[in-house]
Amino acid sequence: MSSINDKVSVRRDGEIGVILVDNPPVNALGHAVRDGMVKACAELAADPAIHAIVVACAGRTFFAGADITEFGKPRQEPWLQEAIERIEQCGKPTVAAIHGTALGGGFEVALGCTYRVMVERAQVGLPEIHLGLLAAGGGTKRLPRLIGPEATLKLCLSGERLSAARALELGVADHVGGEDPIAAGIAFARTIVGKPFVPVSEREDKLAAARADSAAFDALAAKLTARAAGQAAPHANVESVRDSFTLPFAEGMAKDARTIDALIAGSQSRALRHLFFAEREAARIPGQPADVQARRVRTAAVIGAGTMGGGIAMSFAGAGIPVTVVDTTQEALDRGLDRVRANYATSVKRGSMTQAAMDERLARISGATDRAAAAAADLVVEAVFEDMDVKREIFADLGASAAPGTILSSNTSALDVDAIAEVLERPEDFVGMHFFAPANVMKLVEVVRGARTSAETIATAMAAGRAIGKIPVVAGNCDGFIGNRMLARRSQEVERLLQRGATPRQIDEAAKAFGFPMGPLAIADMSGLDVGWFIRKRRGTPFPIADAICEKGWFGQKTGAGYYRYEAGAREGTDNPDVAALVAEVAGRLGIAQQRFDNDAMIERILFPLVNEGARILEEGIAYRASDIDVVWVNGYGWPRHGGGPMFWADEVGLAAIVARLDAFAADTPEDPSLRPAALLRTLAASGSSFAEWQQDRAKQG
Ligand code: NAD
Repeated sequence: MSSINDKVSVRRDGEIGVILVDNPPVNALGHAVRDGMVKACAELAADPAIHAIVVACAGRTFFAGADITEFGKPRQEPWLQEAIERIEQCGKPTVAAIHGTALGGGFEVALGCTYRVMVERAQVGLPEIHLGLLAAGGGTKRLPRLIGPEATLKLCLSGERLSAARALELGVADHVGGEDPIAAGIAFARTIVGKPFVPVSEREDKLAAARADSAAFDALAAKLTARAAGQAAPHANVESVRDSFTLPFAEGMAKDARTIDALIAGSQSRALRHLFFAEREAARIPGQPADVQARRVRTAAVIGAGTMGGGIAMSFAGAGIPVTVVDTTQEALDRGLDRVRANYATSVKRGSMTQAAMDERLARISGATDRAAAAAADLVVEAVFEDMDVKREIFADLGASAAPGTILSSNTSALDVDAIAEVLERPEDFVGMHFFAPANVMKLVEVVRGARTSAETIATAMAAGRAIGKIPVVAGNCDGFIGNRMLARRSQEVERLLQRGATPRQIDEAAKAFGFPMGPLAIADMSGLDVGWFIRKRRGTPFPIADAICEKGWFGQKTGAGYYRYEAGAREGTDNPDVAALVAEVAGRLGIAQQRFDNDAMIERILFPLVNEGARILEEGIAYRASDIDVVWVNGYGWPRHGGGPMFWADEVGLAAIVARLDAFAADTPEDPSLRPAALLRTLAASGSSFAEWQQDRAKQG
C-alpha cells in the first residue's frame, strides 16, 4: 500500500488497483480527498499491470457527501466535477465499492465510476434539495443515463435514499452483496477485466424516450413542484435534470456549475444550511456535565386518550416502544383508540403504510382506565385537559405510585411546570414535553426544564424525543415556553390588523405569500376559536374582534363559521361577510381608524413583534440559542424551511430596520409596552450585529 497524501492511498491486488480514502468521520469530499483521488487514479491508470480500479472508503461509510464547510468559498481545484470526470475518463474501468451511505457528492463519485457494487445495507441518494442545492457534480446528468430522467427527478426532488436492493432493481447498482465493500469491489472488478466498457456520461439509451417526447417528464415536474412556488432549488433541479436530455453533457455540466454558485449564494440555501446545523446544535445542552447519561426508555405510558394523547402514543408505537394509554372512562379510551386506528387505516389506504406495519404498531398500543397501568413505564407523558388542578391531582398520584427512576412529563401547552412539580416528591424526575398537533406527524417537542428538573431527566427526555423521530428543543419554564409565547405576539397583532381594517383573507394571503402553509386565521378556524376565547377570558386580555365572533357562537370549522364560512364538511372557507360587518361595528365603537395594508406591511406588523419576543426569550435564557428558536418555528409552527426561522430571517432583514419599525409600532400603540424593542435587539442593532453573531460570541465564551 502506498500513500498519496494523508487521506488517500493506493494498493494493488493482482491486476486490480484500489483507491482507498480514509477521511473520518464520514469521508467528506474535501479538497485533499479530491486531489488525492485524482492523483491515485492517474497513478493506477498509468500502471500497465492494472486493468481495473476500485474506489473505496475506510471507516463507516463511502463518501457521505461534499465538505459542507467549503460551501461559499472559492473553488479549489480539482473541483468535484473535475475530479469525477478525471476518474471517469482515466481510460480503465472503475468500480465504486459502496458501504454505509453514499450521499450527494459521494453518490456522484460512484456515478462517475463505470460500475457500482453495494454491500447489502448500503444506501445511495442525492439529498442536495434539503440544503436548497442541486447535485452539480454530475448527479443530475449521469443518474438519468442509468435510470432515466423521470426516476432521477423523483430522487432529486425528494432527497430520498435508495436501498441497495432498490438500487439494483433500478439499474443504479450492478451488483449487491456481502458486507466487505473492498472484497466485493475487487471480486466484481475481476469479472469485468478485459471487457469493453462505456463511461456513464456517454450512455444515451435511457434518455431516448424523453428526447422524443418530454410530456411525461413535464407532467411529473409540474406535479412534484406544485407546492414549491417561490423556492429556487426545486425548480433548479427540474431544469438541471431536463438539461440531461436537451443539452450535450458538457454543456449541462457547465450550466450546473453556474447554477450551484447562484444557489449557494442565495438566501434560501443559506437558510436551509443554517437549519441543518441548528437542528444538530439543538441536541447539545450547554453546561451539561459530560458524565450525564440518559435513562433507557423501553416502555411508555400516555395519560389522556384525546387528540394529543393518541398522536403521542402513535409516535412511541412507530419507534417500536410499547405504550399504554390511560383515560378515565372506557368510552373516552375507546374513542381515542378508535381515532388512532382510523389514522393508521388512512395511511394504509393511501399506500404510505402496509397493513402489517399497522397491525404491528397497534399491537404495541394498549389501553387502560386504571392509572396504575402507567406506573411500570419508563416514561409517562401526561396529555389530559389543560387544567392545573387536574394535572396536579394526576402527578400527585403518579409520583407516589411510579417506580423510582420513572420520568414523569406533561404535555402542557403553557402551564407553569414548576407549579405542577410542587406535588411531586421527586421533582427532579419531572419535565415538560410539549408536543404539537398532530403529534404523530409534527417533529417538534419542546423539552421544558423546570427549576428542579435534573440534567439526567432532561437528557432522557431529549433522547426519548429523538428515539421517536422528533426534534427536541430545550425551553425554559415561562408562559408559553418558546413557541406559544412568540405565537401570542403574532395573534395579538393579527387582531390589531383586523381592527384596523385588514380582512382575514388579506392577512392569510400575506402569510401564505411569505411561505406559511396556512394563514393564522384559517388555522384559528381549524383549531377552534373557543379555546383562545376561554384563555383570554381567564386572563382578562380581551381581543375585541375575536371575542365578538365567539360571542356569536362562531367557533370556526366545527360550527360552520368563524373568520370564514364553511359549507357542510368543507375545510376551505369562503369569506364571511358577517365578519366585515362585525369589524365595522367594533372599530366604530372603539373609534379605530380603518387603513389599507399591503403584504409587506402586514408581515412586518405580525412578525417583527414575534422576533422581538424571541429576543426577550434569549435575554431571559428561556432558549439557549437563537437557532433553537428557529428550529422551534420551522418544526412546530409552519415557518417555511427555506426562510430559516424568525431569528435567521430577522438577521437577513437587518436588525436596525426591525428596531425602527418596532419603535413606530410602539408609538402608534402606546398601550402595549411589549412592542418596544427588547434591550438585546436594540443593542445588536446599534452595533450592526446579528443574532447569529451574538450566538457565536456566546458559544466562544462557553
Ligand atoms: P383532549 O380534550 O382532546 O383530550 C384530553 C383527554 O384527557 C380526554 O380524552 C379526557 O377524557 C382525558 N382526561 C381528562 N382527565 C383525565 C384524567 N384525570 N385521567 C386520564 N385522562 C383524563 O385534549 P388535547 O387537545 O389532547 O390536549 C391535551 C393536553 O395537550 C393539554 O394540556 C393541551 O394544552 C396540550 N396540548 C394540546 C395541543 C393541541 O393542539 N390540541 C397541542 C399541544 C399541547
